[in-house]
Amino acid sequence: MFDRRAVFTPSSRASNLSDLLDSTEIAGLIRDLEALRWTGRRGYPVRALVGACLAKALYAIPTWTRTAALVAEHASLREACGAAPSVYALYRFAAKLRSRKPLLDACLDSVAASLRANLPDYGRDVAIDASDMPAYANGQRFVSKGGRERERFSDPDASWGHRSAISTRRGGGFYGYKLHAAICARTGLPLAVRVESANHHEALFALPLLDAVRGRGFTPETCAMDKGYDSRAMHDGCEARDCRPVIAQIRARNARTPDDVPACEHGRWTFAGADVTRKRTKWRCPSGECEPKSIWLKADRRNPLIPPETKRWRKLYRGRAAVEREFGRLKHEYGLAPLRVRGLERAVLHADLCILARLSTALARTRAMPLPA
Ligand SMILES: [Zn+2]
Repeated sequence: MFDRRAVFTPSSRASNLSDLLDSTEIAGLIRDLEALRWTGRRGYPVRALVGACLAKALYAIPTWTRTAALVAEHASLREACGAAPSVYALYRFAAKLRSRKPLLDACLDSVAASLRANLPDYGRDVAIDASDMPAYANGQRFVSKGGRERERFSDPDASWGHRSAISTRRGGGFYGYKLHAAICARTGLPLAVRVESANHHEALFALPLLDAVRGRGFTPETCAMDKGYDSRAMHDGCEARDCRPVIAQIRARNARTPDDVPACEHGRWTFAGADVTRKRTKWRCPSGECEPKSIWLKADRRNPLIPPETKRWRKLYRGRAAVEREFGRLKHEYGLAPLRVRGLERAVLHADLCILARLSTALARTRAMPLPA
């Protein structure tokens, strides 16, 4: 059984950092980066630079300036990294990482694969959603109230999008990016993320995210999404990937109604199972007096293989809360928010480093746990 303590127990971050840097997966990234043998200025060891990148996320530090200062002043952190890189070295290193994104992706793939080996439940039930990442820039059309129109935007990749209300904060427009994420509903760990400008609709990225999850070697069985993702294309796309959609239906003219369930004089028929290969659901007369006693309905958006009336659907849809919790954790514990870089490429690197810190920390904790007997 999955042990939640394995992933959620907090522990000393500086002492963990050297364990992370020594793990096979991160050591592999360091080796790959060393193999590039970039030349030039005074070189810091790649291990120290990767260590500072992880420290930035582990201490939720928004800027490279403050990361460099913390590593320089924090004795055990400096010892874990092996050196205290200057802020300029960190800027140059971040540029290198942006141009070598495939290396970072390969490292994330290997961390995810090792986690899957330790947590067999990881990646079976997926929840997909998007969250706001406000830009480090101003997107107002006018420079000042009643003033002249803005001609130059400091972050040309950012755009206006909509976010929903959380807690006491009102929903509404915001300027920046959206983090689209596929999260494991059983372990709460991220499976795949992507950062896009805020004006793109979330539904555009759900199936590509599901493909990214499968590309990482997972076989998601169910995918929970809110009503923002409700469409026939999404239902059919999930089924085509052999993944059961668990999507809340928008209250529109073509939403599922009680009349979608067959009925007779004995009452509404009850769900009696699904045939996954033939993509049909079985419904049965409540008294069994009708002839035939049951019928098969072809699965579609209004009549999915996991019907919304079932306990299983409600349980899986509740699992969607994992994605909201994980957004909060990434933003507040791993420094995903506030964004202090401009441009899509830099925002993507920032998110990738947060995810790397999150997953490699979880991996280190599953390794520290005794194996189940
Ligand atoms: Zn009947």
